[in-house]
Amino acid sequence: MRIYTLAAASRITGIPTTKIARLEVWPKVVLVVFHKGHGLRPRFVSKNKFKEDFVEFRKQGSLSCVVTHAAVDGCNGIYAVRGSGDPRLVTVHNGRIYCDCPDYSQISQSLPQGRQGACKHIYAVLRFHAISSLAEFVREQQQTVPLF
Ligand SMILES: [Zn+2]
Repeated sequence: MRIYTLAAASRITGIPTTKIARLEVWPKVVLVVFHKGHGLRPRFVSKNKFKEDFVEFRKQGSLSCVVTHAAVDGCNGIYAVRGSGDPRLVTVHNGRIYCDCPDYSQISQSLPQGRQGACKHIYAVLRFHAISSLAEFVREQQQTVPLF
């Protein structure tokens, strides 16, 4: 999963990507190294900051997504989600939530088996059901009473 990206470093530091030379991923931190000539010294950013940004960026993206159609049957459902890019299908099945976008498949491939990930379309569906976080969704799905 590409968590430690120049774009993320830019959002976190507030410095444009054009001024960032490279990222060095250390065991607990990421060293952000800037191009010479801008008077910027290398800066350590905690890995947790990048993880928070990863989620926050997708939650922000979900705000411009609209759930245009929902076919819900008990706990399971199919949702058409329209964002800035191609329309996507989000599916809730057997307590898991899936999306057909490339971001979601990248996230899923990089997570340990069985862990739930989320793209902006999934956050849009969660918001559609007034669920504020993925953790809340997972918790609700593990309970006996179906949420939706
Ligand atoms: Zn998606």
